Amino acid sequence: MAYGIAGSMLKYFQDKIAENPSFQYALQMDCEEKIASIFWADARMVLDYAHFGDVVSFDTTFGTNNESRPFGVFVGFNHFRETVIFGAALMQEKREKNEGKKKEKIEEPSILSDFSACMFQYEEIAEFEQNFDLMRKKVPKQTWLDSIYKLKEKWAAYYMKGVFTLGMRSTQLSESLNNDLKINFKSDLDLIRFFKHFKRVVQGKRNTELNSEFDSRKKQPRIFMRRPPAMLVQASKKYTPVIFEAFQGEYERSLQACAKAMDGNNEYLVGDFTYEEGYKVIGDPSKQTVVCDCQQFDRVGILCCHALKVLDIMNIKLLPPQYMLKRWTREVRAGIVQDNLGRNIIENPKMDAMLGFKFMSNKFLNLAYRAAYYPECIMLVDSTLDVLDK
Ligand SMILES: [Zn+2]
Repeated sequence: MAYGIAGSMLKYFQDKIAENPSFQYALQMDCEEKIASIFWADARMVLDYAHFGDVVSFDTTFGTNNESRPFGVFVGFNHFRETVIFGAALMQEKREKNEGKKKEKIEEPSILSDFSACMFQYEEIAEFEQNFDLMRKKVPKQTWLDSIYKLKEKWAAYYMKGVFTLGMRSTQLSESLNNDLKINFKSDLDLIRFFKHFKRVVQGKRNTELNSEFDSRKKQPRIFMRRPPAMLVQASKKYTPVIFEAFQGEYERSLQACAKAMDGNNEYLVGDFTYEEGYKVIGDPSKQTVVCDCQQFDRVGILCCHALKVLDIMNIKLLPPQYMLKRWTREVRAGIVQDNLGRNIIENPKMDAMLGFKFMSNKFLNLAYRAAYYPECIMLVDSTLDVLDK
């Protein structure tokens, strides 16, 4: 990277830190002491990671910017099942080679597509190890690949069987993000403009959450029963609307499910026995636990209809706290999160003001629509606003 660009990039990051000291960035130098890879995350990303970092996907299917660097983002899901961004990385992958006056770009085989294959394709451990090793050899020296290998249980498909993934694949996770960013990469933006564009894309995602937050505060989710059982009422108050819908679906299915007692204590085979074979569920009334063979709770974090059926058989009428994951609740953002230096990270201080603004805008707009048809009303609204404005 040219020194001028490196300088302006460092200044950009320093300005960000001045704005909010929880902004993080890390640089990796190459053998010529030039910047090779850049990683960064703003305060909100660090917060989001604290709340929703239980499932992280690293996505690199984007194009590259004019610096010819592969670009990757760490993404996950918020409590509305919307995309959140935990951090971003620009990496050194293609090398430039000087041949006399002519500058020629040589593309190395894409490490990132190899990495993606390691992440998703190999379901046998030997196959995974062999391919990771092949990829590792393409990179000249100690890189982030070594550090990420140590965490392989967290991301490689082989190790991820039956693991908490919120029930979605990475490709689904960042599809919309991919579209947002791709448009930009076709043009030759410089690095700082790229950072700014990326920031706008991230802000777009945050606005989406703000809208969902606003909607969920305004209206309670619809419960399908007229006299709902306590568990549904509890879930409707705690879960975000989209998660409550999913939970309510499971609850409804649990009402239709049949349970056959098995030999063991509180062991049942649960299912409808027409469309699916039953799953084995083991309950423990003293610990208020239920474990179902379908493993939905382990993967998605929402109890399955089979487990709900057995809870009911055991006369447990409220959802035990361990089955109400905080990451799916309305209060997930409550509480203090500290950064790696032990400082409290300030959540968007404008959040309440922005919600208030939206609330008032809607009210004013409705009033304006109604008043617009009657000149006397327009005068009344106008004079009242003038009084308020003083
Ligand atoms: Zn189940």
